[in-house]
Amino acid sequence: MAEDKNSLMESYPCQLKDLKLSCYGCCGDDWTSKADVENDIWLNSKDFKEIYSDNEKSVLDLEFFRDRFAKDEVSKSGVCMNLVDFGSRCLACPLHPKVNKIVSCKKTVAPISDLRVGHCDVNYECETVKFWNLMNSVQRSEFIEFLILKDLDNYEYSMKNVSGELIKEFFESKKLKLD
Ligand code: SF4
Ligand code: SF4
Repeated sequence: MAEDKNSLMESYPCQLKDLKLSCYGCCGDDWTSKADVENDIWLNSKDFKEIYSDNEKSVLDLEFFRDRFAKDEVSKSGVCMNLVDFGSRCLACPLHPKVNKIVSCKKTVAPISDLRVGHCDVNYECETVKFWNLMNSVQRSEFIEFLILKDLDNYEYSMKNVSGELIKEFFESKKLKLD
């Protein structure tokens, strides 16, 4: 258990691999519904397979996948057209240079340069991330326990992160003040 907790402490709210939680709250806007979002992520993943996975997995393929739509275009459900389902509840952006920290290089090979630049706000931090960065290891551990009890799916986790609701609930549960 100690080892599990240590590995969780090395995690980050955007991707909590050990909890099988992927957040995509800031990978979109004007969300319609969970069903629509999941369907659009399925379509993205289908495109990714056809354009990238079934081919040479080159940077050119990755850029071709990214550029199949305009920079500011999002799907009808609101989700970014670059978000891919890599299986086992892991959703991630193949344009991210650190994607291989959470997805095997057999599935996607991280680009050397950040291919997201110009396509989204790569420096965005939601309230969860801002507070995570201020938390000590005990508070982070408590937050992880809080998440385990909540048993959210990726959609719920994403929406609650980007709205700021989740971290607020956590602090309220600990009876701590946000400011
Ligand atoms: S909404 Fe927050 S936790 Fe989710 S991906 Fe964006 S920065 Fe990470
Ligand atoms: S380009 Fe990648 S990180 Fe940026 S919004 Fe789209 S899926 Fe998210």
